[in-house]
Amino acid sequence: MKKNKLALHWKILIGMFLGLIGGFVFLKIPSGKQIVFDWIAPWGKIFVNLLKMIAIPLILASLIKGVSDLKDIAKFKSIGLRTIALYITTTIFAISIGLIAVNLIQPGNGVSQATVNQLENSYSSNKKIENKISVAQQQKNKPKLQFLVDMVPDNVFKAMSNNSNMLQVIFFAIFLGITLILIPEHKAQPLKDIFDSLNEAILKMVDLIMLFAPYAVFALIANVVVETTGDAEILWSLLRYGFTVIIGLILMLGFYMIIFKIFVKKNPFWFFKQISPAQLLAFSSSSSAATLPVTMERVEEHVGVDKEVSSFVLPVGATVNMDGTSLYQAVAAVFILQVLWPEGLGFTNQLTIILTALLASIGAAAVPGAGMIMLVIVLEALGFPAEKLPVALALIFAIDRPLDMMRTVINVTGDATVATIVAKSVGKLHQPKPKEWDDHLN
Ligand code: ASP
Repeated sequence: MKKNKLALHWKILIGMFLGLIGGFVFLKIPSGKQIVFDWIAPWGKIFVNLLKMIAIPLILASLIKGVSDLKDIAKFKSIGLRTIALYITTTIFAISIGLIAVNLIQPGNGVSQATVNQLENSYSSNKKIENKISVAQQQKNKPKLQFLVDMVPDNVFKAMSNNSNMLQVIFFAIFLGITLILIPEHKAQPLKDIFDSLNEAILKMVDLIMLFAPYAVFALIANVVVETTGDAEILWSLLRYGFTVIIGLILMLGFYMIIFKIFVKKNPFWFFKQISPAQLLAFSSSSSAATLPVTMERVEEHVGVDKEVSSFVLPVGATVNMDGTSLYQAVAAVFILQVLWPEGLGFTNQLTIILTALLASIGAAAVPGAGMIMLVIVLEALGFPAEKLPVALALIFAIDRPLDMMRTVINVTGDATVATIVAKSVGKLHQPKPKEWDDHLN
C-alpha cells in the first residue's frame, strides 16, 4: 500500500514553508490574524494534543516492557549510569559553548540605553513576564532535595493524569519493570505481553498521527508568525544576541555529529535524516515533551535502538537533558549582565552559570518558554539585582519564541544522540526496521 513516495520530512518541511508564507499573507489581509486564531491554530493544537495524549501510555508501556526484558538488573544500572554521565557531559559542553560564544561575540555591546528604556516601557509590566518571575520564585523556595521528593508519586494514577509528572511515571514504570524481573517468569509474562501489545499499538498511533503532521505544522508555524509582532528596531538590536544563540546551537549540532561518528561509527547525516521528523516537530511545537512519542518512534524503528535503551533514555532525556536550553541560558544570562549589570561579569559568576544552568536545565519543563523561567533562577544565583529582573526578561522576551523553537530541536537531537550512543555501547543498536502505518492493511 505504499503509494506515497515523498519522505515524511519533506512533507513536513513543505508544510512549514507554506505555514510561514501563509502566516505573512494572513497578516496582510483584514482580520487575517483572527482567522488564523479561530480557524487554523486549533488544528495545530489538536495535533500537539494527540501527541501529548499518547506520551504517558507510551512511556509506561515501553519502559515496563524495556526494563523487564533486561533480565539482569546490572544491565539496567550500566545503561542508567552511562545515560546520566553522557547527559551531564553534553550539557556542560553546551553551556561552555554558550559561554565562549557570548564572551567572544559580546552581543550586549549592540544594545543602547535607549533600547533598554524602550523595552522597559513596553514589556516590564507584561503579564507573561511577571508570571515567569513568580513561577521561578516558587521553584527557588523549595527544599534542596525537593527534586527527589517530586520524583516519587503518592498516587500513581494521579501522576499519570498530568503530563508534567513524567518523572513520576518513569519512576513507577522502572520500579514495576524491575519487579517483573524478580517474580517467576510465568507470572510476569501476561503483564509483559499486555504492555508489549500496548506499546506496539501506541507506536502505530504515532504513525497515524504523523500522517497529519504536514498540515499541523502549517497551522503551528502560521500561528507563530501572526503571534510574533515586534518593533523592528528592537528586533534589530537583539539580532546579535539571537545570532550568538544560533551559532552556539549550530556548534552543538556539530558536536553531536562528532560524538556520533566516534562512538556509533555511522554517518551522522544518515542519523539526522532518520530523526528529522522529530527535529522538525520540535521546531514547530517548541516542546520536547510533545515531540517525545515521535522521537521514540524514530529512534527505535528508524535508527535501530533497542526498546530496552530508548524507553529509558528518551523519556528521561525529555525531562532532564536540555542542551539547547542550557546553552541558551548561558548566552542569555551573560548577555543580560553585559547590558544591565556589567559589574557582575566576573569569572566566578561565569562558573556559577555553568553549575546553575546545568541544574536549571534539568529542572526545566519540556514545554514552550520553560527555559526563560529557569533563567530567572540562574540570574538570582548570581546575585542579580531583583528590581532589574523584569527588564532583564524584557530584553530577551521579544525574540524568545524563535530561539525556543531552535533550542528545542537541540534538546531533542541531544536525547536521540545519547540514546544511540548508549545503545551502541551496550550492544543494543540493531539494523533498523521501519514500520509504516499500513503495513498490516489489506
Ligand atoms: N521549549 C523547550 C523544550 O521543550 C524548553 C525551553 O527551553 O523553554 O525543550
